[in-house]
Amino acid sequence: MANSQNQGEAHGMSNEEMMRHLGGSLDRMPNEVRVILFAGRDDDDNVFSQVARQSLELFSKMSKKVRVEEYPLNHELARKYGIETAPTLLFNPETYNIRWLGAPAGEEGRTFMEILFLIGFGQSSLSEQSIRMMDDLDGPRSVKVFVSPSCPYCPQQAVNAARAMVQRPDLVSLELIDIQANPDIADDYGAHSVPQTFAEDLLIGLGAQAEEVFIQSLQKLEEQRIFIPESTAELVETDLLIVGGGPAGLTAGIYAKRSGLKTALVEKGVLGGQVATTPVVENYPGFTSVGGKTLVDIMVQHALEYIDIFQGEEVLAIEPGQPIAVQTSRRRFNTQTLLIATGATHKHLGIPGEDRLSGRGVSYCSTCDGPLFKGKKVIMVGGGNSAVTEALYLYHMGVDVTLVHRRDNLRAQEYLIKSLKDNGIPVLWNTEIKEILGEERVKAVALIDSKTKEESNLPIDGVFVAIGYSPSVELAEKIGVALTPEGYIKRDERHRTNIPGIYSAGDVEGGYKQIVTAAGQGAEAAISIFEDLINPYWKQGKK
Ligand code: NAP
Repeated sequence: MANSQNQGEAHGMSNEEMMRHLGGSLDRMPNEVRVILFAGRDDDDNVFSQVARQSLELFSKMSKKVRVEEYPLNHELARKYGIETAPTLLFNPETYNIRWLGAPAGEEGRTFMEILFLIGFGQSSLSEQSIRMMDDLDGPRSVKVFVSPSCPYCPQQAVNAARAMVQRPDLVSLELIDIQANPDIADDYGAHSVPQTFAEDLLIGLGAQAEEVFIQSLQKLEEQRIFIPESTAELVETDLLIVGGGPAGLTAGIYAKRSGLKTALVEKGVLGGQVATTPVVENYPGFTSVGGKTLVDIMVQHALEYIDIFQGEEVLAIEPGQPIAVQTSRRRFNTQTLLIATGATHKHLGIPGEDRLSGRGVSYCSTCDGPLFKGKKVIMVGGGNSAVTEALYLYHMGVDVTLVHRRDNLRAQEYLIKSLKDNGIPVLWNTEIKEILGEERVKAVALIDSKTKEESNLPIDGVFVAIGYSPSVELAEKIGVALTPEGYIKRDERHRTNIPGIYSAGDVEGGYKQIVTAAGQGAEAAISIFEDLINPYWKQGKK
């Protein structure tokens, strides 16, 4: 339960206090949750069953509302429910058809807790729009979500599916499948990145989806990318609306609210941005070495002390003016000022095979997908800080990783380059990838030596890509925010864009792209916004 521990520490609570607090919340659930664990016994016991057993013991000790039972695979109940793998967990099987193939460890601890509350309260907590779509479901949906304990995106998607199952237990059944505990099932489905979601054996979601997008994908049995609300959503009025929940946005939120501004933040995906998937951070002051996700949890807890965060909500349209009107996938915001802190997204290589084999051996997230490649041979493409940090992470996890770089020297920091050398991680210099080869999954890469132009094939199980980021400027561009020649948001020294009342901060502005600089820019922008709201330059007709 690493996550609840972190949250407890971030709240300044000891572990015991955190467990008492959680136990109190579980005690308030109107329904008892019966969790049945099917596990191996003695020689048959595996490490996943042992972890599941320990986690369940912890929860059952916390509250009498959580009742845990354990049976071996040869028990008649296992036959009754058709259980074939250990560990498998069932939750109130007389009411809900949900099975969890794996152990609630790491990030999955969050999912497990959410499921306890969903079932204990017997309420899906879906939005009204989602409930309407669930009411219209035209037939049964057998859902499979592939997850892993090290994937910070997975709980969002697993909880989406659990909510759908609690809302329509008559039609929706759910299997949460830990790919580390069940590599064979993951292979059968070609699920080599997480989260990945299937309904009626059709792929309906690659990655974590906003709630309504997931529900619509479930309804249509086809992956949806955007959800357009059917009716006018609730209105929220703010002095400052922040778009993007990375270090820049979160810091801006803290500063703005402490200045007295009514502030909200909208994030369509995972809070923390790129930091959430950074394996280790060693240059954020105050932390000698900290997991990216842990740092994000601490920042988010801090920000939540001050601001409302609307997560899983996508901004669909912005209308500049006074106020600025912002339509998200769930509601409308009227705001005096808007801060664009949308960060940047992974660059793609843009070569044949890359998109087709994405999630089939091609990955942009080593913390999410690295564990799948333990003992296998992969390449890490890139020569910057990200590629070297992530190559080191994969190496320490037991992945046979080779760095592939198009030039003959790296642009990563000296400290990282030294670690790469000290650990003997091989580097293919002056090498570009021409094509990624394989039918169902990655089998090899076609390489070309950028100096001699010699071509060769390298058999490989996975291709990790860390070649930098492109700024996420689609929203800004749509409303006419001016960009720099490099494609970043153009702003003045006070973080004002060319549109009155609209500001920017963080990686979307270019610059050094460090967590600490993004946080600094967020603080600067919030102070500037506060000063401008006291004395609006747009009302004086000058900037
Ligand atoms: P980056 O610094 O922009 O480096 C991108 C790397 O990918 C470069 O080596 C580049 O090669 C290579 N590349 C770009 N396009 C390519 C293509 N089409 N094919 C093959 N290779 C290609 O990106 P990053 O490493 O993701 O870092 C982004 C920012 O985050 C940087 O400012 C970095 O300092 C920061 N960051 C910092 C830390 C840290 O402080 N520990 C950790 C991670 C990231 P060339 O060298 O030939 O251009």
